[in-house]
Amino acid sequence: MEAKLLDEAVRLAIDSVKHGGGPFGALVVRDGEVLATGTNEVTKSLDPTAHAEVVAIRRACQAIGDFRLTGCTLICSCEPCPLCLSAALWARIDRVVYAADRHDAAAAGFDDSALYELFSQPREEWKLSVRQVRTGFEAGPFVEWENNPDKVDY
Ligand SMILES: [Zn+2]
Repeated sequence: MEAKLLDEAVRLAIDSVKHGGGPFGALVVRDGEVLATGTNEVTKSLDPTAHAEVVAIRRACQAIGDFRLTGCTLICSCEPCPLCLSAALWARIDRVVYAADRHDAAAAGFDDSALYELFSQPREEWKLSVRQVRTGFEAGPFVEWENNPDKVDY
């Protein structure tokens, strides 16, 4: 079952390339049912976050009308990058299974492994400048959230 689903993710990825997308495919599966599929649409949709896994997660959430994918498995043609792993964590997905890995992706020019390494480096060494500036107003959203009786915890 798992191998068949992985093959399907790989098939999606191959089709994606044939149709102008990136070489990645993913499925969200629960209790043997495919809730949604996704392919990499970064260049097609001008969306740097449109990774196959993120696309599949978005569609699965829409399909079941929930922002939680508890009990679901994310099946990926390739090892998810940190963005997609984080998306899976936020979505409360139970399991992630992948076929190719970050080294296979790096050999094809997709250097996810560099991103993984970056997160273990001190931020001062990053090319991307990330810094905090407190203005005294920054706690406002959290106060508003705490005081909102209609908030939906996630
Ligand atoms: Zn990704």
